Amino acid sequence: MTQAIKDKLRGQAIAIDGPAASGKSTLAKGLAEHYGLVMVNSGEMYRAVTWLAIQKNLDLSDEEALLKIVDELNYTVEGYTSAIEYQGQQLTTELRLAQVNAGVSQVAALPELRAKLVEIQRNYLNKQGVQAVVMEGRDIGSVVFPDTPYKFYLKATQEVRQSRRADQGEVDVIAKRDAADSARKASPLVIADGAQVVDVSNLSIEAVRHQVIELIESV
Ligand code: C5P
Repeated sequence: MTQAIKDKLRGQAIAIDGPAASGKSTLAKGLAEHYGLVMVNSGEMYRAVTWLAIQKNLDLSDEEALLKIVDELNYTVEGYTSAIEYQGQQLTTELRLAQVNAGVSQVAALPELRAKLVEIQRNYLNKQGVQAVVMEGRDIGSVVFPDTPYKFYLKATQEVRQSRRADQGEVDVIAKRDAADSARKASPLVIADGAQVVDVSNLSIEAVRHQVIELIESV
């Protein structure tokens, strides 16, 4: 990678959006490794709040209570990796539980909660040692970093996405989540203005990464 590209990316966010199981995390990880940047999975934030709310037996529509628990989670960066911790423990497999998959879109529809998480997401660029981020989610190009010139929207058929999730051994309700995520009032899943759409249905992981790297470097 040339110094010119490193300089171009400094202080910027590479935004990757798309529906459930479209390969956003895999691409974001690949790009973060390629450019030596921090990767942030914003879906994990909505999942962590959902998981903690379930632990605490909170009503998932009680926005006031959910806003409070956002502060009980820690959003950390170490090297190129970001993580979410609760009581000093990194949250991992619990974020992928079927119960979390089933409840997360309801939580993600709450506008004030979103505003609070968006602030945390933007703040990654101010963390010590962070030069630029690759962030994936549903509203990264439309709401979180609308001014970035690096916006990508991954598209794949529902069959491809459903079978990917099944291969990962996860019980997920992707059609239901997509419908809720696209129909909600607060920051719905949309193709952001200026986003480049990449149809990944028939492409390998390497081919997607290669294509997006070429697009980034042509900006
Ligand atoms: O990306 P992932 O599928 O893990 O996201 C889980 C859920 O979090 C989504 O279905 C959506 O409801 C919510 N989400 C969101 N905005 C983001 C990222 C995720 O609403 N930026």
